[in-house]
Amino acid sequence: MSRKVRADIHLDAIVHNYRLARAQAPGASAVAVVKANAYGHGAVPVARALAAEADAFGVACIEEALELRAAGLAQPVVLLEGFFDADELPVIARQGFWPAVHSEHQLSWLEQADLPAAIPVWLKVDTGMHRLGFDPEAVPAVVERLRACAAVSEVLLMTHFACSDEPEKGMTEHQLARISTLVEALETGASMSNSAAVMAWPAAHYQWLRPGIMLYGATPFEHADPVAEGLQAAMTLSSEIIAVREVPAGESVGYGATFSSEHPVRVGTVAMGYGDGYSRHARTGTPVLVDGQRTRLVGRVSMDMLTVDLTDLPHAGVGSRVELWGRQLPVSEVARWCDTIPYTLLTCLTPRVPRSYE
Ligand SMILES: *Cc1c(COP(=O)(O)O)cnc(C)c1O
Repeated sequence: MSRKVRADIHLDAIVHNYRLARAQAPGASAVAVVKANAYGHGAVPVARALAAEADAFGVACIEEALELRAAGLAQPVVLLEGFFDADELPVIARQGFWPAVHSEHQLSWLEQADLPAAIPVWLKVDTGMHRLGFDPEAVPAVVERLRACAAVSEVLLMTHFACSDEPEKGMTEHQLARISTLVEALETGASMSNSAAVMAWPAAHYQWLRPGIMLYGATPFEHADPVAEGLQAAMTLSSEIIAVREVPAGESVGYGATFSSEHPVRVGTVAMGYGDGYSRHARTGTPVLVDGQRTRLVGRVSMDMLTVDLTDLPHAGVGSRVELWGRQLPVSEVARWCDTIPYTLLTCLTPRVPRSYE
């Protein structure tokens, strides 16, 4: 029999979460963000599950957008990082993609382009993230140039929040004020809400939401949030125990001999490791479920295996099912034990893990 590592993708949960996002802003549309292989869940199956209701899809680059078209998905696809070369523009126009425009060089490519159809563009405004986008002071002139440009059919302003998951910081109010002033003055549509803003910043909703992580049932917040409570986990990552041993007091477990105990420990070895995408930063104590019961990871995660404490689970043994995250164990909780965020755990799942869809 084969190795039992698997990721079950709960497509019904993704549909539920998309609806929950949209319900936060009746009247607004929502880009379902499926970049990075839908955060590890499989871009094509996820987009197909949402095909009947998603207003648009969001990806990082044209390759990801073309993958959706090749699978027969007809919605507009927003290119969140824009285009990287002028020669992408005819493809963008033919395929109905909506690119972000964040820099002067993209603007001049558009001005020089002779396209089969004019395209809507999402003009990125740098309101404080300082990663991509035009300075707010430059935006009125850029909008004027875009509106005069034959290749452009429509201009919408977009921005991205640096701290929408941390309401106490005051940064979001600041970014929101900057973009709102422009939206009002220039009479454009706007898009600014990632998942955290969809859930916690109604003033940022405007015409187009851009939920990503929440579609996959993971919360971007460190704190409890009433909307996030309603999310459903979209992935259950599981495997099974392939060996069990009694480790005497004082003996260590795993690479680096980082874990040892004053008491004898019953240790289960699980077929799951960082070669599957399970984080090597998971510390001793990270929760795992064995046959549905909580216990903890012990010792270092290795490439193909990890070890768990079965001392208090006398009935667990070879063949016991192990859930690493999923419906009963939020990926966000596991992420905290790895000093990371659920985004990285989900996107770093490797192709070795078979995804199965229900
Ligand atoms: C990835 C991304 C999103 C989605 O963010 P989440 O925090 O996953 O909801 C939204 N907008 C842009 C520009 C992005 O790059």
